[in-house]
Amino acid sequence: MFYFYKMREIQMVDLKAQYEKLGSEIDSAIKSVLNSTAFIKGPEVKLFEEALQNYMSVKHVVSCANGTDALQIAMMALGMKPGDEVITTNFTFIATVEVVALLGLKLVLTDPDPDTFNISPEEIRKAITPRTKAIVPVHLFGQCADMEEIMNIAREHNLYVIEDVAQATGAEYISSDGRRRKAGTMGTIGATSFFPSKNLGCYGDGGALFTNNDAIASKLRSIANHGMKERYHYADIGVNSRLDTLQAAILNVKLKYLDQFNAARRAAADYYDKAFAECPSILTPVRSGNSTHIFHQYTIKVMNGKRDDLKRHLELARIPAMVYYPGPLHLQEAYSFLGYGKNDFPVTRELCKQVLSLPMHPDLEQEQLGYIASSVLKFFEKH
Ligand SMILES: *Cc1c(COP(=O)(O)O)cnc(C)c1O
Repeated sequence: MFYFYKMREIQMVDLKAQYEKLGSEIDSAIKSVLNSTAFIKGPEVKLFEEALQNYMSVKHVVSCANGTDALQIAMMALGMKPGDEVITTNFTFIATVEVVALLGLKLVLTDPDPDTFNISPEEIRKAITPRTKAIVPVHLFGQCADMEEIMNIAREHNLYVIEDVAQATGAEYISSDGRRRKAGTMGTIGATSFFPSKNLGCYGDGGALFTNNDAIASKLRSIANHGMKERYHYADIGVNSRLDTLQAAILNVKLKYLDQFNAARRAAADYYDKAFAECPSILTPVRSGNSTHIFHQYTIKVMNGKRDDLKRHLELARIPAMVYYPGPLHLQEAYSFLGYGKNDFPVTRELCKQVLSLPMHPDLEQEQLGYIASSVLKFFEKH
């Protein structure tokens, strides 16, 4: 008989471990909503918007049903017309580009910076035409895009900037003058998601919009609620996209822990960085000088062409790993109408073959980190 000490099973994101920690606080938050039965527009929604406003140091927070809606509502509120061009990155989650296409706007993709994975200001400049109306930077994997440069371009060309903050709620951009601002509060509008696996996640779907502009804020609020200005008076064509009270109550609990959780992610990233520092086949995530990194994902680049073999090796060791993102958006069937070719976007195509995201969440234990790191290194001893 062998006795195995059982390490906790490793997950990409361990929502269960988090619930074990916060359970009693979450339970009582949920219970109080159940007792009030104010499921839509209950007081917790406003409390959460105010708490988040305070945390983000932004003038307005408008909650909504999910991050994809947030992006869509942002574009609707800016009054963009079919054919208006929107420049974004080809290396992101589909939601970013989906809403552009849905609204009949012209999607203009760009190759990202190969080191930070974020949208490249030089590529934005090349993509600008007289019809360009907006830039959508995505703060990918938890690190801010180069917002200072992006805002300069936007000012020069009179463009809107919609920040996709879904993966970076809580990250801070550091301007060249040392000023620190939260991701999502620098552009015209910021749009985020509270999908359960995000750094600030609820127990279902949720999202929010950020802006410092009063007129835009009231437009966002109207559109998210059927375009209603006063009761049964409709000023805008809107959508039904509200954050429900249960989710707001859960977020009210979790927001208090966001910085602590992001710090724990950073500590896990530091561990990985150190473990892989001497491995020539791995490039660890580049930390840009002008942003904090809150490690929504810890994404390495596998440089010896064996990414998929490594992923299989890890799976056999019961270590999940994910490829974000396996296919460039311009080659997706649904987006063939854009007319991009197979050989376009060399940086994106290369990244799609190299990247691998390792387990990353605030509850990774030292023992788990040690096991993951040694399993990765063991693979490269043989390859
Ligand atoms: C998760 C995500 C979204 C969409 O958020 P949902 O709440 O799932 O709609 C948008 N953009 C990016 C980059 C994301 O990671």
